[in-house]
Amino acid sequence: MQPNDVKPDTPMQFLKGVGPARAAILEKLGVKTASDLLEYYPRQWYFAPEPVKIARLLPNHIVTLAGIVESTDFQMFRRPPYFEAYITDDAGSCRVIWFNARYLQGKINVGQKIIVWGKTAVYKHQLQLTNPKFIIVEGDKEISADDFSGPVYPATAELSSGQLKKIIHYSLDNLLQSAEEFFAKEFLKKSNLIERKTAYQWIHNPSDEEQLAKAKRRLKYDELFIMQTALALRRYKVRHFEKAIPLKCTDEIDSRIRKRFPFLLTADQDKVIEEIAGDLAKDIPMNRLLQGDVGSGKTVVALYAALVAIANKQQAAIMAPTEILAEQHFINIERYLRNSSVKRVLITGGIAGQQRKEIIDGIQSGDTNIVVGTVALLQEDIQFKNLAVVVIDEQHKFGVLQRASLRKNTTPHCLVMTATPIPRTLAMTAFGDLDVSIIKMPPPGRGQVITRYITHKDLPKAYEFIRERLKAKKQAFFVYPRIVDGENGDVKAAISEYENLSKRIFPEFKIGLLHGQMSSDEKQKIMAEFRAGRINCLVSTVLIEVGIDVPNATIMVIENADRFGLAQLHQLRGRIARSSSRAYCLLVSQTENEDAQSRLEIMTRSSDGFEIAENDLKLRGPGELLSARQHGLPDFKIANIIEDFELLTLARRDAFELVEADPFLKLAGHKNIRTELLRRFSDSVGLADIA
Ligand code: ADP
Ligand code: MG
Repeated sequence: MQPNDVKPDTPMQFLKGVGPARAAILEKLGVKTASDLLEYYPRQWYFAPEPVKIARLLPNHIVTLAGIVESTDFQMFRRPPYFEAYITDDAGSCRVIWFNARYLQGKINVGQKIIVWGKTAVYKHQLQLTNPKFIIVEGDKEISADDFSGPVYPATAELSSGQLKKIIHYSLDNLLQSAEEFFAKEFLKKSNLIERKTAYQWIHNPSDEEQLAKAKRRLKYDELFIMQTALALRRYKVRHFEKAIPLKCTDEIDSRIRKRFPFLLTADQDKVIEEIAGDLAKDIPMNRLLQGDVGSGKTVVALYAALVAIANKQQAAIMAPTEILAEQHFINIERYLRNSSVKRVLITGGIAGQQRKEIIDGIQSGDTNIVVGTVALLQEDIQFKNLAVVVIDEQHKFGVLQRASLRKNTTPHCLVMTATPIPRTLAMTAFGDLDVSIIKMPPPGRGQVITRYITHKDLPKAYEFIRERLKAKKQAFFVYPRIVDGENGDVKAAISEYENLSKRIFPEFKIGLLHGQMSSDEKQKIMAEFRAGRINCLVSTVLIEVGIDVPNATIMVIENADRFGLAQLHQLRGRIARSSSRAYCLLVSQTENEDAQSRLEIMTRSSDGFEIAENDLKLRGPGELLSARQHGLPDFKIANIIEDFELLTLARRDAFELVEADPFLKLAGHKNIRTELLRRFSDSVGLADIA
């Protein structure tokens, strides 16, 4: 194979110097093609100068020392405490200290070979290094330049960083053939980006920090840009190739719908409804995300949208992630639609046989106006006669791809609702093809939720407090992170605590149990009892996280609260913010982890969902909540959507401009971008069917 034949998709074994055996090992690292190898980025880069002899040291120079650790000590009573080591080579000895570095105990040990680099300084007439970077050199091997300069690759048991470096550097020139430029020179210049080939070259082999920074910037930009282009295309496709039925919302329809609600809509609800009505009036399918804290009044807005469809002689579907929530929506909707001629059904897994058949017939004939159900609605092949509005609650549990699968025959207007405050980064990535509406202020007259962070020793007092509230006919939630006891018994579980609460703590009250392993009939029965006030305390797992609406429940105890994410705690707490009376949330935790403790403290201080979500994001990093894969988007290899927010903004703007100007990416200058998109996303962006 000629070097210039290397394409991004060229399989590993056809690359120079990579035989079938190596190819097999690389495949285990997820490296199958030339571009995978090119994007097998180092995890670390060192730029230490050549080592010098300790005897030759001068003050105020950046130097590298290579030697043996002669002694170590952690000076814990100094202010600040520091870790100290003496390093010797054949000609001298040098003191090295790291402030506050208790963690170095056991990491840097006497007798180890070590390389340190940093700036020399004079302290009490002696030269020393303060807080230098260091590398421990394992085993007997001689220290070589590779140990303190150049890239370090994520290694495995079978391939060391050094071997990976050899493989990659050996084929680098060859691999670079596959990295064709996406952009014109002027664009690169204007955007302060280096060329693509250069970026790959430098990321693997930078000569200094500056080259590395430039390489990172370009490669991060590309990654973000390609993703944003995919989103822009998806949005373009929906807006131009899918037709929706335009739904009029005249003043008469508007006032008829509003009469259904026993209250005035809030200013935020009005604003959001106006945005939605604007979308519905067009023949472009609506694709809107509605964010608002638990209890902010989203269901009302959802019902409004559904009723606009019905006023236009069309059908609407409202879908929830679980059956309990679907039922909850149905009950709420029933409340507003009492005595109305709107035909509505609830369809759940529990409904079978003739009854199910009748429901499905009603949907197919168009007799039924509003259908409430779970995701199962998507999987089952229920044909609507004329579905024009779909509302999806808690969309982040559905994923982008499933959302797309909704549009099978018709393209309904789609409203996605979430109570998870979505940080800006996520709104621009995982939800980047949606328009966003936000309800900020909850309806008036909400009681305050007082949140306390307590430990097990406070529980007896807490139980007494709860007993008084229960006597006053209030209700309580007890939430546990698991259903059954685990092996080491350090985490309380719902089933055993249910026993404990019902037999020993609150024998005089009725306690109910709710968890995911119960049948949906059982669950619904328990929920109905709780709603009706016949159950005083509901012991549960996070099943109650979203949507359960029982205004009389004003107490919540969350055990092992440190096991939950902040966003999740906030959602849980939202369950008891539904009435005008004051509510109490007790977070119980024995954790000694300081991060976990400060997270729980955030909960006691803040009731602002956005503030909590942003804090959560910072503390946890772009992990769980932001996992792109969870949202049906590819993971990033080098970009980090929190740290690289500015670059993300730039890439998003450029990508949307590109698609606006050349929606089919047909221009010759965009050929490489188009190829890359098809390679990464295959058909899912719809480029193929546009062509
Ligand atoms: P969400 O779906 O956002 O959690 P809901 O729509 O279920 O919130 O509303 C929560 C509660 O607030 C419901 O009991 C509802 O009746 C009430 N509510 C909604 N909008 C208003 C309003 N504008 N004024 C007063 N109460 C409202
Ligand atoms: Mg709701």
